[in-house]
Amino acid sequence: MQFHHHGYVSQDPRVLPASGTGVDRPTDLPDEVDVLIVGSGPAGMLLAAQMSQFPEVTTRIIEKREGRLELGQADGIQPRSVETFQAFGFAERIIAEAYNIGWMNFWGPDPENPRNIRRTSRTADYAYDICEFPHLIVNQARVLDYFAEAAAHGPARIVPDYGVEFAGLVVHEDGDFPVEVNLKDAEGERTVRAKFVVGCDGARSGVRDAIGRKHVGGVSAHAWGVMDVLVNTDFPDWRTKCAINAEAGNILHIPREGGYLSRMYIDLGEVPEDDQHRVRQTPIETIIAKANEILHPYTLDVREVAWHSVYEVGHRVTDGFDDVIDGSGRTPRVFLTGDACHTHSAKAGQGMNVSMQDGFNLGWKLGAVLTGRSPESLLATYGAERRPVAQQLIDFDREWSSLMARKPEEISDPNDLATYYLATAEFPSGFMTQYTESMITGSDAHQTLAAGFPLGKRFTSAEVVRVADGNVVHLGHHARADGRWRVYAFGDRDGTALSAWALSAAEVFARFTPSDADVDAVFDVKAVHQQPFEELEVTTMPELFRPRTGPLGLADWEKAYAAGPSKWTQTDIFEARELSRDGVVVVVRPDQYVAAILPLEGVDELAAFLEGAFLPAS
Ligand code: FAD
Repeated sequence: MQFHHHGYVSQDPRVLPASGTGVDRPTDLPDEVDVLIVGSGPAGMLLAAQMSQFPEVTTRIIEKREGRLELGQADGIQPRSVETFQAFGFAERIIAEAYNIGWMNFWGPDPENPRNIRRTSRTADYAYDICEFPHLIVNQARVLDYFAEAAAHGPARIVPDYGVEFAGLVVHEDGDFPVEVNLKDAEGERTVRAKFVVGCDGARSGVRDAIGRKHVGGVSAHAWGVMDVLVNTDFPDWRTKCAINAEAGNILHIPREGGYLSRMYIDLGEVPEDDQHRVRQTPIETIIAKANEILHPYTLDVREVAWHSVYEVGHRVTDGFDDVIDGSGRTPRVFLTGDACHTHSAKAGQGMNVSMQDGFNLGWKLGAVLTGRSPESLLATYGAERRPVAQQLIDFDREWSSLMARKPEEISDPNDLATYYLATAEFPSGFMTQYTESMITGSDAHQTLAAGFPLGKRFTSAEVVRVADGNVVHLGHHARADGRWRVYAFGDRDGTALSAWALSAAEVFARFTPSDADVDAVFDVKAVHQQPFEELEVTTMPELFRPRTGPLGLADWEKAYAAGPSKWTQTDIFEARELSRDGVVVVVRPDQYVAAILPLEGVDELAAFLEGAFLPAS
């Protein structure tokens, strides 16, 4: 992590100096705000943390709860979310307190005595086969705490306004703050005007209703009980994630953080058509008895129930993710994220994860438009990009939850659940999302120059050697969720074309960077050389790779890298990511998705691509 950039820092370097709207931030909600976020769940809190990096923008987040969330429902954290936490600066800390899913075991009826269950397979979990981040279990409440910290420590110093409830909105056709929002708090009712409103208010979203969007889909006739319990048991896999398909029913078992607590999703079977949701009143004693029946011959002695619930599996996606219903192409003013626009069963552990990525997708776009970097048309890409992801999520979850709910006689191969789990791992790990060509995702004409960085997918990091100190670092981990674009310029064999690129590309980046800002305020450009780091000197590199920035005009030592292998890594990023030895430029969006792949000679193409996504700097 880099700091001391604006002078010596003696306190926690994660606490960035307040600036812009973060200085003298009013305690009370102002009458006018640029962005009003409704709801402080995972989608809303990530969005707040992202907006805190844009101190020129007034952002407030309201929450009807009176304070922080005490007990969260979600707990499964996919590797893509941990990668996102890394960008927000808290991955190491949350990993330390989480449960790490290393294995997933499968249980089925014992052929000798089908009333009993026995372990049918033991499978290494997928995370480390796919990326360098783990697959975790940790309480949603803690995830929110960390995002709240990131939001409060960003320059805009954003903290939720608790005890404030959204009550309705009207979008006016004109005015600087066209969205009129009605709110309720302990003092009564009031109105706030906003440029943009984001509904992060969960499955029963009032924002969704206010803009006339419809949640399409329904509830299937299958119910599950879920409980977080502290037990004594002779079941040997209490501390390993398991899918259990028994004659008596099914359990998805997930150990939780802390070494004792586990969560069980217990199949309560088909719900009769005339049930009218009575199944939701199933007492905890019935759920525990059912769990014991399924686990036979093992037993659970439940010592404490930390939380429990009963739900019917529903699958719904909203008919649009913003308020542009008439197809007019006008600028969206109201957006929906997370459960407000997609809901499904809990067992695939996806809802919180996908909701956070909704917030990540939208945050930098709002920041870019409100700071004048990008045209308002950028905002239409939010719904265009995220709605297909929601549909994929519903399809995956529908398949996974029906596979989980099968009876043993419907299962011909006892290993097929394990096979499905591993074969589809790219989706639940969060890495399958691939955005299609748009104003922020270029054409795939040059994809062969960087086959290991598929266009539209998130940038897959790899180890490189930092030239300045010879240390091995992950190239992608340097990138913080600070709203900046990343440009990775991979050099040609002797670096001649790379140097030439740096000179002409610098002029292109300058066109979209305000003249009073640091030269890397919008584009953080890194060079990755093919030569060993010992043969390179930072001080002789083009200005683009050692810019002088900040009030002290300090040169940046962390823009220049070399490919391995080296003493501390066997990875050669050129081989690992199938990069052209003639060099290639990889442009990455602030939410870490690959936006463009261009040859070093393609500076005009770079300029044309950026002209589509940015406004010329004033
Ligand atoms: P929410 O978390 O629902 O947050 C919405 C917020 O808006 C709340 O804080 C609410 O108080 C606030 N709000 C609502 N209305 C208003 C209003 N009018 N004014 C002001 N504030 C308002 N997902 C996973 O990824 N992994 C899992 O393992 C997982 N397990 C789950 C287990 C269970 C039993 C359940 C029920 C869900 C699980 N999920 C899981 C799903 C996950 O909890 C949700 O998808 C996720 O919380 C959605 O985040 P969100 O920010 O969209 O909405």
